[in-house]
Amino acid sequence: MGILFILLSNYFRILAPQVSGYVVDKVTQVIKQQNGNTLTTQLSRNVSYDILVKKLISVVENREISFGNMIILSGITLLILAVLGGFFMFLMRQTIIVMSRHIEFDQKNDIYKHYQKLDVSFYKVHSTGDLMNRIAEDVSRVRMYTGPALMYVINLTSTIIFSVYFMWRANWQLTLYVLAPLPILAIAIYSVNTLIHKKSTAIQGLLSHLTTTAQESYSGIRVIKSFVQEKAMLRFFNANSEKYKQSAISLAKLEAIYFPTMALLIGISTLLTIAIGGWYHASGHQPEVSAGTITEFVIYVNLLTFPFSAIGWTASMMQRAAASQKRLNEFLDTKPNIVDNAPRQAQTLNGDIVFDNVTFTYNHTGITAIKNFNLTIKEGEKILVIGKTGSGKSTLAQLLLRFYNPNEGGISINQQALANINLHQLREQVSYVPQDVFLFSDTVANNISFGLPEKASQKVIESAAKFASVHNEILGFDKQYETMIGERGVTLSGGQKQRIAIARGLIKNPEIVVFDDCLSAVDAKTENEIVTNLYQYLQQKTAIIITHRIFSTFRFNKIVVLEEGSILEQGTHDELMQKEGYYAQLYHLQLTANNDDNAAIASVLAD
Ligand code: ADP
Ligand code: MG
Repeated sequence: MGILFILLSNYFRILAPQVSGYVVDKVTQVIKQQNGNTLTTQLSRNVSYDILVKKLISVVENREISFGNMIILSGITLLILAVLGGFFMFLMRQTIIVMSRHIEFDQKNDIYKHYQKLDVSFYKVHSTGDLMNRIAEDVSRVRMYTGPALMYVINLTSTIIFSVYFMWRANWQLTLYVLAPLPILAIAIYSVNTLIHKKSTAIQGLLSHLTTTAQESYSGIRVIKSFVQEKAMLRFFNANSEKYKQSAISLAKLEAIYFPTMALLIGISTLLTIAIGGWYHASGHQPEVSAGTITEFVIYVNLLTFPFSAIGWTASMMQRAAASQKRLNEFLDTKPNIVDNAPRQAQTLNGDIVFDNVTFTYNHTGITAIKNFNLTIKEGEKILVIGKTGSGKSTLAQLLLRFYNPNEGGISINQQALANINLHQLREQVSYVPQDVFLFSDTVANNISFGLPEKASQKVIESAAKFASVHNEILGFDKQYETMIGERGVTLSGGQKQRIAIARGLIKNPEIVVFDDCLSAVDAKTENEIVTNLYQYLQQKTAIIITHRIFSTFRFNKIVVLEEGSILEQGTHDELMQKEGYYAQLYHLQLTANNDDNAAIASVLAD
């Protein structure tokens, strides 16, 4: 439809020069008649007109309309042609530009959807600024192609074809003279364009970098302030910004010469039309050129101004779009390593977790975080994984959630290899509370009920918060459960965040829970309270609790001490105490440190 509208719009616009040319010839003829000259230039060149214009001429000439009325009628015709041309141009924008917005919408959604499918490892190697830039900037550049560029290409080709066709029919010799500067124009456009393209690619890269720099300093604002590095950061940002500015200015300068040069070349064409056409007209040499033809050509040349200057501009738009689409495809073609092709099962995943000789190396760093790790967890068992930072505890949890696939060995739940379990089902039934808590800028209630498919009732939310021992603190907030968290709301303490994250993990009512060091920011007293609450909650569940501190109040079926990705020692609390290894040492150390809590711990241990 858009293409049809463009053709119609151009068709009506292209008739105007012919009507004007006809009128000028007619006026010349009448003046000559008045001066007593015989009719020389008549109808001989009318053959070059379009059918519609011929129709108008036959109406005017056969009805013997007076000279004044003929001029008025032609004027009205010009007006109608302009209105029709404009009307179809309006329709063309309505179809093509609107369509490009729809494409943009789809593309944005597709990319967002694809981003979410990609593995966590993908996010480790690409900066947020880069991801954001591609979904925003690159998509809008591609839209410039599917919308304006496409429109201009069809528009300018049809304008050029229509104009040149009628020019050629009117006087092919003059057409050749007039269009002679155009090859030079085309070459100039091409070379300038390549330069523009090169520069804009560089600018795009600089902008990406600038965005990342800015974004990092906002998220790290507290570090910047506490180290009094505002000025240094500003200098850093300024330096990057300066580079961007320089490149942008040099591009602007290039573009500044671009359009005037176009205008100059078109101006030369107009000059040639008048000079050469005028010479033929005055000298009477063949081919015969009438004043009307010169008028017609001058208008054609002006109609061609925009298409010719738009060639380079459109080409650059298309080049940019191509570069952007390439960048988008780079991500869209990235296939996730973790694919979800297993069907959902009726059976719930409730334990019997087996790590069978698992070895895992992080791809992009080459760090082997887990080495020949073996562990069997029966349904309902509570396991404590303890170890120094960097010993591989978090990696273990993420392997169980299948954020990564192990390089060697395998993990299974309910005698099924992890790879054969539906990924969504796995992640629904294993509740993972990560070490680095992330809460959304939303209400407390919405953060807690995040993992639920439907909106949770207040009672359910509160009960989860109670298990996580954060209910009372939430009641102390201004709007309680409706309090906003994060950038637009209250700032929570590390411990509060952790406990809200725990509540979010518990509300799903999972079969298996994995807590990754998520009580690290909680004081010993609160920890005791949570652990007591959790003990109740976890009774029917399989639990893996990861910590670098000992929970002495909790009875674990097995305690695993991890070191450099392998098991250093394992057993029950009593067994490990007897062994007098790492665990026993840590226990004694912590006991003396927590003198105040000694009594509490001792009393719980006694029962
Ligand atoms: P823990 O949780 O016990 O502190 P981690 O499992 O986080 O230990 O880390 C184990 C090892 O793997 C460390 O040497 C760490 O540097 C490395 N590591 C952790 N996460 C990544 C990652 N995303 N990419 C590369 N290396 C990682
Ligand atoms: Mg960790």
